[in-house]
Amino acid sequence: GEFNDSMFELDRELGAGNGGSVERVVHKETGTIMARKLIHLDTNEEMFKKILLELNILKDCNHKRVVAFYGSYQYQRSQIRICMEYMDGGSLDKVITRFGKLHESIIGAVAAAVVEGMTYIKKEHDIIHRDIKPSNILCSTQGDIKLCDFGVSGQLVNSIVQSFVGTRSYMSPERIIADHQYGVSSDIWSLGLSLMELGYGTHPFPRLKPDEIEELMRLPEGTPAPQRAVHVDFIDILADRVENDAPKLSSEFFGPDCCEFIDACLRKEPDQRPTLDSLSNFNFVKHYGETITVQTIATYVKKSLNGE
Ligand code: ADP
Ligand code: MG
Repeated sequence: GEFNDSMFELDRELGAGNGGSVERVVHKETGTIMARKLIHLDTNEEMFKKILLELNILKDCNHKRVVAFYGSYQYQRSQIRICMEYMDGGSLDKVITRFGKLHESIIGAVAAAVVEGMTYIKKEHDIIHRDIKPSNILCSTQGDIKLCDFGVSGQLVNSIVQSFVGTRSYMSPERIIADHQYGVSSDIWSLGLSLMELGYGTHPFPRLKPDEIEELMRLPEGTPAPQRAVHVDFIDILADRVENDAPKLSSEFFGPDCCEFIDACLRKEPDQRPTLDSLSNFNFVKHYGETITVQTIATYVKKSLNGE
């Protein structure tokens, strides 16, 4: 049957984002540990029903690169609650805050996983993710890497009041100019930026200067990046992306295949970026997608959790 609140026991909060928060809960009847997302909405009953109906598409999204959906329900007059697979390694933004930058080969495996996930939701369900960022890429101590939080419900996307202030942005230049100009290529840009962040261990905007990059790359593995003092307004960070050259990955510290892939994703003009189909043919994705095993990732994820 359908889920309701009395079926779950709250364990702890996992994190909070723009539109709500996520908790670890136990589904009492089966003992399954789940991640439950709480989304606050200020809308009418009719809209709640519409959103819940749209979310049901998630039941058919079954793929090893997509976080499994268990069900959703309305809570009181103000929330939608979405129950999904719990990923014990957490999201990649948390991995780098704990552990620092990731090794190029792991970034390659992440790229391969995300490309697979994006291809599945587009090809099988005609869904564009719309929110690719490290916090929506989850990992597990089993060595799985999966996507979550894709824009399956247009009504839900429209109903969440986005407050951009103080958020890191993964928005492509064309979206900053006109948010409705949205295609898979915008997700591809966000993927490029996310991978660059994993490589440096810190968000690449405001732009990193060569000496900052050198300092970050000198840090030993397992060392979180120092907090950067940000003296620029959020709006200037976005304007930079629109007005100036595309950011490029440092070829001094990353191999040619890695730079080729990330730089191609980050091209300013959406039509200059690789197509979704071509992403899986890049050496970077092919090579690490094939050679980095689930065991290697599992070990890496466990290492990143140590000392938490
Ligand atoms: P955001 O993605 O913007 O950080 P969310 O509300 O989507 O905000 O998620 C908050 C945090 O909860 C995420 O950063 C992530 O660390 C954690 N989280 C989300 N979904 C899961 C999940 N299925 N398993 C484990 N942790 C999760
Ligand atoms: Mg999220």
